Amino acid sequence: MKLDASIAAVVTGGASGLGEGTARALAAKGVKVALFDLNEERGEVIAQEIGGVFCKVDVTSDESVAAGFIKARAAHGQERLTVNCAGIATGQKTVSRKRDTGELRAHDMASFERTVSINLFGTFRVLSQSALGMVALEPMADGERGLIINTASVAAQDGQIGQAAYSASKGGVYAMTLPVARDLAQEGVRVNTILPGIMWTPMMAGMDQKVQDSLAAAIPFPSRLGTPADYAALALHLAENVYINGECIRLDGAIRLAPR
Ligand code: NAD
Repeated sequence: MKLDASIAAVVTGGASGLGEGTARALAAKGVKVALFDLNEERGEVIAQEIGGVFCKVDVTSDESVAAGFIKARAAHGQERLTVNCAGIATGQKTVSRKRDTGELRAHDMASFERTVSINLFGTFRVLSQSALGMVALEPMADGERGLIINTASVAAQDGQIGQAAYSASKGGVYAMTLPVARDLAQEGVRVNTILPGIMWTPMMAGMDQKVQDSLAAAIPFPSRLGTPADYAALALHLAENVYINGECIRLDGAIRLAPR
């Protein structure tokens, strides 16, 4: 799709990190952006800065997501693009070889369920409500009706020590990409998923400088952490290239090539 003022977009998790970066990049192209997030204070500020609309949405609730779409569509019309960035990180945030059975010993099912509820079920909830709106739209010039971009993680493929819940939640997003893309292909709605590696966002706040440096050094090229701008550039590319569909794309500086 051509990203301009004729396009309305919804970005979940738009009040921070990868979602914020993507919302800003879309708005810079003229796209009308609605931010869905729990963080009202930051969300309102960003929405104002980019000329968008903020919708206080909890992706774990059907009603809350539905109300968000009603507000966003009233402001901008039916969205053609939805970017699912809302998520939480649980478990160890570092790439470590140290043995850690803490997550297993804690057997914290409430935490496991919360992780899956936000990262996986929340993604499906937003995806399905958005796609059902998209399929009712007239196709655009290239026959496309809309696009959903999800955010999994490299943890879906190579989860680290102490990250069972997080990896399972992201593995679910990874695994559902192809079947959902198949379901929607005939309707002209694409579905793609980005698998970020280690991205410098507020989600990583609290990580000390030494750990950051060692992580950056482990990334083959470029030897730095990823940024919201790296993510946004890929999200915009996925939007603009109608021929990419049903893909899960790693965005990680080839971290899997790092020596172990
Ligand atoms: P972030 O913490 O900066 O932003 C996440 C946003 O999601 C926050 O604004 C938060 O308020 C919102 N959110 C959390 N729970 C929500 C809910 N129930 N309803 C609505 N909004 C909710 O994190 P980020 O680093 O920008 O991460 C964005 C996505 O990328 C997440 O899905 C994360 O798992 C994924 N990811 C991040 C990294 C990384 O290294 N930062 C790596 C791989 C994948």
